[in-house]
Amino acid sequence: MLQLVSALGRLGTETAFEVLARAEALQRQGKSIVNLGIGQPDFKTPAHIVEAAVKALHDGHHGYTPAQGILPLREAVVKDLARRHGVEVHPDTVVIWPGGKPTMFFSILMFGQPGAEILYPDPGFPIYRSMIEYTGATPVPIALKEENGFAFTADQVLSQITPRTSLIILNSPNNPCGGAVPEDEVRRLVLGLEKHPNVAVMSDEIYSQMLYGGRKHVSLLRYPEIRDRLILLDGWSKTYAMTGWRLGFSVWPKALVEKVVRLAVNCHSCVNAPTQYAGIAALEGPQDEVHKMVAAFDERRRTIVPLLNQLPGVRCLDPGGAFYVFPNIAGTGMDARTLQNRMLEEAGVATVAGTSFGIHGEGYIRFSYANSVDNIREAIKRIAALLRD
Ligand code: PMP
Repeated sequence: MLQLVSALGRLGTETAFEVLARAEALQRQGKSIVNLGIGQPDFKTPAHIVEAAVKALHDGHHGYTPAQGILPLREAVVKDLARRHGVEVHPDTVVIWPGGKPTMFFSILMFGQPGAEILYPDPGFPIYRSMIEYTGATPVPIALKEENGFAFTADQVLSQITPRTSLIILNSPNNPCGGAVPEDEVRRLVLGLEKHPNVAVMSDEIYSQMLYGGRKHVSLLRYPEIRDRLILLDGWSKTYAMTGWRLGFSVWPKALVEKVVRLAVNCHSCVNAPTQYAGIAALEGPQDEVHKMVAAFDERRRTIVPLLNQLPGVRCLDPGGAFYVFPNIAGTGMDARTLQNRMLEEAGVATVAGTSFGIHGEGYIRFSYANSVDNIREAIKRIAALLRD
């Protein structure tokens, strides 16, 4: 018997990738599948970003870079944060990563150990809980409720803090529900955190540019009171349609930068050089393609929400962020996993059961509307036929 570490048995996964694999297998058998399962933009990376990477390769940028990321890219991030959030950040506190995920991976590794408690959103991105369990820390779910627009409340978070709490993970706008937390709740949370100076916060703001209907994103970076214990996660994947490039950034408290960069050196050394140049072009170039993509997501959101609400047994809130909706399907009489499987196998529509995002996801299904309006209409037509059978 191989002597594998027991922690491996506690590692979870992202079901969305399993759904994608099954959907592709069905497609290979000749079945027509509409994919509303995977959470990635269906657009191409804007051409000037691609060109910047090609140019970087031709210019000979093919070697290692500093583990923290090249300075011009970190400076471009600083300017981007000033423009979007009106905050001043030092480039020495910015760390460049192969995607958004490594920031959660490493921050959970840095704060998770047996005896520690880590708060995380449920329903939430499945990797949070998976990594907390891997470290042996105790996962403490913050239940995101439909009646609160799938956003956490300050009271909810603060009431769950104990002397053992080492880290709070927040995500707004969130995956899988699309909920975004209002500004007054963020302010109340920051005020309340003053009583808990030993608790760190990891704010996953990867969907910060995807808000609709006049809603405004409130970054936790705006609160100097918690800057010495805030880790801000953001990146290029969603905003610039760059999921496969693997590029993300985070802002760290000064005192933690050296430690986390040491973890990066031990893991991947650095992000590949041409991708970092592409990242500069994305932040410093024209933003009109971003605005176009967000406008397209908005149109799809306005298409899918009323259509879902017409389905028998389905009730869909319009929380207004990211590119997900999380309809309540309790009225169909099916549990989330059964309905997910029947929609895929019988109607050819890929979605992800709410239970893939935590126990509080039972009774809900995640629909990603990163797909065309025509495909969304077709998917709902197929589901309507299934539910009326
Ligand atoms: N955070 C959340 C909430 C996400 O939904 C995702 C991607 N689905 C990520 C982080 C990771 O992004 P990346 O692909 O850049 O690693």
